[in-house]
Amino acid sequence: MAVGVFDLFSIGIGPSSSHTVGPMRAAAVFAGELKASGVLERVASLRVDLYGSLAATGHGHGTMTAILLGLEGFHPELILPEEVEERLATIAETGKLQLAGSVPLPYGVKDMILRPLTILPRHTNGMTFTVSGADGEVLHAATFFSVGGGFIVREGEEDAALKELDESKKELPLPFRTAAELLGRCQSKGLSIGEIMFVNERASRTEAEIREGLLHIYSVMESCVEVSLKREGLLPGGLKVRRRAPDWHERLMKETRGQAPDFRDPKYWQEWVNLIALAVNEENASGGRVVTAPTNGAAGIIPAVLYYALHFAPGMDKATQQDRDDVVVKFLLTAAAIGVLYKEQASISGAEVGCQGEVGSASSMAAAGLAEVMGGTPQQVENAAEIAMEHNLGLTCDPIGGLVQIPCIERNAIAAAKAINAAKMALWGDGSHRVSLDEVIVTMRETGRDMSSKYKETAMGGLAVNVVEC
Ligand code: SF4
Repeated sequence: MAVGVFDLFSIGIGPSSSHTVGPMRAAAVFAGELKASGVLERVASLRVDLYGSLAATGHGHGTMTAILLGLEGFHPELILPEEVEERLATIAETGKLQLAGSVPLPYGVKDMILRPLTILPRHTNGMTFTVSGADGEVLHAATFFSVGGGFIVREGEEDAALKELDESKKELPLPFRTAAELLGRCQSKGLSIGEIMFVNERASRTEAEIREGLLHIYSVMESCVEVSLKREGLLPGGLKVRRRAPDWHERLMKETRGQAPDFRDPKYWQEWVNLIALAVNEENASGGRVVTAPTNGAAGIIPAVLYYALHFAPGMDKATQQDRDDVVVKFLLTAAAIGVLYKEQASISGAEVGCQGEVGSASSMAAAGLAEVMGGTPQQVENAAEIAMEHNLGLTCDPIGGLVQIPCIERNAIAAAKAINAAKMALWGDGSHRVSLDEVIVTMRETGRDMSSKYKETAMGGLAVNVVEC
């Protein structure tokens, strides 16, 4: 299937789309195959091999526990945070998981085989599942790659997946791969970037389904913030990072006392944007329910900038609920169109291209969404996306302790501010600019290719080695 808005914005659990959501999805697919092929009842042993970045930072990213849940048959988009806690506690207590939900098998995190220095040819985030019968005969085995944003690819099916993607794109009324093609479509059809994306989405869903689906996505983003604001204390993982969002919220509410809930004093826009980004990423870091946007590590940027659009963009003080819903739908469709360009031409995976692919892509998508809802032309929207990525180029991924906490949480707030500034700069221009979005995307891809693997989600360089963990 061609990448769509509901692929880029999917509901899952934290802390990482590539290291938590993707591995859980792969393990759930494998468990489903055991059931479907009829070998499940004969399984006597299980082996899980993790390679490259998954092995290097898997503990901090919750990869191993996500795999256990996937092997039990849980899917990231359906599992609830309470179920995560309950199942993991039971597995730890009994030393057994329920393979595909029905066959008890002695297995736990400590049994997984970690190969951080082995990089499989297709991608650094590789994992192999193997099950054998009582006589040692291999009953089923499969290798998957978690390629960013929760997307997975099975080894040996890369070409078929690409072919399927190409075929499905032919079914889209207005396909595009580059920003130049996207702008060409806008010009020939007289549509905005968000509208082009909407026309393509209509190939597989009704208008009502798209609208309801996107409003649901936004409601999950809002719930994520609400839940986070009620949870105080330290984030898990041993880094002793304190949740700041609840205190900041309390302070903001005190300083703006007396204002109606929907009114937000423009003087505090930056504080609100910071708060939303921190709240989402603190919830993500603690394994809560988040929307990948387009990844978990960068999940706070789009909600924060969308919050800005809904509360601080000109005219929003008089907006009806219908107007607000329209802003949400338009923003997310536009952001997704830009996300497609990154998926098509580069990568949104920190393990492939560093943090510029995660936080950089999200900042660029958010800038475009904001520019569009503030009335930008397609050229201004493309310019906003370009500015935001241009100033995230070279951003490395070096999470301390392999946890999605430092620098990730604050980085989302900073990138949200960059996105807002990029949109404002683009809107003060006429859309013409020297560097195109396509040139910046290609530069991001090549910079990522040149980047040492130390800076690509391995926790072997940068802050991860220069800051003492205690
Ligand atoms: S540094 Fe960036 S890419 Fe790396 S885990 Fe954090 S948010 Fe993701």
